[in-house]
Amino acid sequence: MDRLEDRLQEELQNLKDTGMLRWVTDLYFEDSVWARDKEGKRYYVLSTNNYLGFTHHPKVLEVAERTVAAGTGSTGSRLTTGGTFAASVLEEKLAAFKHTEAALIFNTGYMTNLGVLYAICRKGEYIFSDSLNHASIIDGCKMSGAKVLIYPHKDMEALEELLKSVPPGAMKYIVTDGVFSMDGDICNGPELVRLKERYNAILIIDDAHAVGVLGKTGRGTAEYFGLEGKIDIQIGTLSKALGAEGGYVAAGRVVIEYLKNKSRPFIFSTAQPASTLAAANAALDLLSTEGETYLDKLRSNAVFTRNYLKRAGLPVSEGDTPIIPLVVGEADKTVQIFEKLKGQGVLLSAIRPPTVATQSSRLRLTVTAAMEQEDLKLALDKVVACYKEVICGKK
Ligand SMILES: *Cc1c(COP(=O)(O)O)cnc(C)c1O
Repeated sequence: MDRLEDRLQEELQNLKDTGMLRWVTDLYFEDSVWARDKEGKRYYVLSTNNYLGFTHHPKVLEVAERTVAAGTGSTGSRLTTGGTFAASVLEEKLAAFKHTEAALIFNTGYMTNLGVLYAICRKGEYIFSDSLNHASIIDGCKMSGAKVLIYPHKDMEALEELLKSVPPGAMKYIVTDGVFSMDGDICNGPELVRLKERYNAILIIDDAHAVGVLGKTGRGTAEYFGLEGKIDIQIGTLSKALGAEGGYVAAGRVVIEYLKNKSRPFIFSTAQPASTLAAANAALDLLSTEGETYLDKLRSNAVFTRNYLKRAGLPVSEGDTPIIPLVVGEADKTVQIFEKLKGQGVLLSAIRPPTVATQSSRLRLTVTAAMEQEDLKLALDKVVACYKEVICGKK
């Protein structure tokens, strides 16, 4: 044990010395934007994935509270005694929402990517994966045993070359984030569909940050590009814009039936409690009925924020999503800005390697539909001041 602890301690010290050490911050969210820490300090949280603010919507809370009466845990896999009405109802709604024949819920989006990729893809097959794909896609690819060919971020010419390089008869999968989680940019949907058709590949898009964000009614990448029916397998999460916890895959009936029988993360893990899934159900209903109001607000807050930061001289890239990265470069400077802002009651995420490439550490700023422009402006002023203080040494 001493030997192991010495080794682990050495690695931890190394992380500390290079500004890479990670830690947990406990928060109590009073609403979807404001949270308190254990000392009672209040924060304006400018980095959640709660894009529509649904975690604290009265309708969602009411449904979740009511459904807790069915028990605080499901205590079984869906295939044993953990099946709930809420899960099956939600799967039907998700399939309709995504215009697919069927859908299947997993415990998290992370487990969904593992569960889909390593159940379906196998040795002797080829997966083409964007270099900035989410860790859960990377891990699912590795576990599958298929040969993984990584193409440079959104480089469709490179992807085409790779597609040409494998035996034409081989089974091929192209897998990508719809909206990239740390950069906030969007995959090239139309070109991906062209390539998958031309090279007879299967297209898998992970809409974790796209549902509730992209498309007129928030259905994600397919709706944004007008590609409904063209994406073979759509992955998503219940944990971001839908304000609950879980993941799902929406696809044809055969794929879903196969996953129910063969996907180990689905089979061997206890299902979410009904209250969690009922909350996601209520959130999806809200998105379907009143979605445009929330989406309009989300978009106007994103445009406002990009313009505000740009005008203040911060290096903000153009974009269509509420994910606005402020790339700093060095990990320690990123953490310095994070700490300064935290001191002033604004919470952002300091994102460092290995989540992003070396020398591309950043503050990940996100806006939500629940933010009011007056509060947002106050928080952004602090972001600008702290950023300039650390980067330009200005006081
Ligand atoms: C967050 C995220 C996931 C994981 O979803 P969870 O429900 O948080 O486990 C998967 N893919 C992408 C692209 C993500 O951003």
